[in-house]
Amino acid sequence: MSGERTKFCPHCGAMIPYDETYCPACGESQPVLEAVTRRPVKKTWIAVLLSLLVTGLGHLYLGRRRRGLTIFTVTLAVGVVAGLYFTYDQVMFMGLLFALFSAYDAYLLSRVQG
Ligand SMILES: [Zn+2]
Repeated sequence: MSGERTKFCPHCGAMIPYDETYCPACGESQPVLEAVTRRPVKKTWIAVLLSLLVTGLGHLYLGRRRRGLTIFTVTLAVGVVAGLYFTYDQVMFMGLLFALFSAYDAYLLSRVQG
């Protein structure tokens, strides 16, 4: 919570401020711990929300490009074909089901990926 955190310099072992880029004792550059350990955090709720707006979009957000495009394409294809045989309401209902499926799938993927 404060700037009081410290670490040991891997080069000379001196205790130095955690945020220090260069060791004040030996002058060696410090490894950037945060950048190495921290992965880009994908928010689950964003992936779900995007999937509800546009099927497959949540997958693109999660980096699952192919899967997202597949879901989007299938949704579109089914929607077009269904539009020939079913009423507008029925097609919209199918679209809703696809959106829910897409959102659920994005949710599971997001949880797996962490
Ligand atoms: Zn040092």
